[in-house]
Amino acid sequence: IIEFETVTKSFGALTVLDRFDFRVRQGEKVTLIGPSGSGKSTVLRILMTLEPFEGGNIRIAGQSYHMPDGKGPFRATQAHLFNIRKHVGMLFQQFNLFPHMTVLRNITEAPVSVLGLSKAEARERAMDLLAMVGLSDKATFYPNQLSGGQQQRVAIARALAMRPKVLLFDEPTSALDPELVGEVLNVIRKLAEEHDLTMIMVTHEMRFAREISDRVCFFDKGRIVEEGPPDQLLVRPSHPRTAAFLAAVL
Ligand code: ATP
Ligand code: MG
Repeated sequence: IIEFETVTKSFGALTVLDRFDFRVRQGEKVTLIGPSGSGKSTVLRILMTLEPFEGGNIRIAGQSYHMPDGKGPFRATQAHLFNIRKHVGMLFQQFNLFPHMTVLRNITEAPVSVLGLSKAEARERAMDLLAMVGLSDKATFYPNQLSGGQQQRVAIARALAMRPKVLLFDEPTSALDPELVGEVLNVIRKLAEEHDLTMIMVTHEMRFAREISDRVCFFDKGRIVEEGPPDQLLVRPSHPRTAAFLAAVL
């Protein structure tokens, strides 16, 4: 469902991705780990069309991005953005809720404006999702009236309201106080049980990654140095760089 083919991405003189290849199958739950600055967020941001890139091809959920005649960089058009919002949801470290909208409006806005749902349908969908994340009683609150963990659960409900095929998570719990991490991980764990949903997650929660991932990829300097099932990669890494990274974070 996702394919990067020899993708190159630079920021000025800094090459972050150099002929990067990466594939994810439908329904697969993949975790990216690796040192700060290795390019993990960049991969997710490119998928979400939040970043242009200079070379290669990307396919995601039936849509492809590439340069016409190899003349880069690729920049997303309105049509790309619209389509990506239909199929791919992204959760950020900072929850990025719309501060001037209630929880309910935050969740119903995109289903109404992008999918064309009626307000009543969108509302019903939103209330079901709020129940799923345990926040039925917060529908009329504003984001600043909620804890970080609650805001992140609203952000998850908002992403799910689009019924995405793919969900991207960029360190969804690293801005939270430790006692709020569990409630967010529990919601993500529930999602991971959904067979058809494809998930790519960047996280430093190694125990959690081990529980929910089908595959863990260790990322360093814009490359996947090593990948494999979590029990293998996180426990018996075969590459010394992976081992050194794990020793430092565990
Ligand atoms: P972290 O674990 O700290 O979140 P990361 O693996 O997500 O790191 P990226 O955010 O993908 O790393 O960044 C990869 C590299 O690209 C870093 O060296 C970063 O400084 C650089 N970079 C990222 N965004 C920009 C930008 N908008 N302008 C210039 N350089 C950038
Ligand atoms: Mg990052």
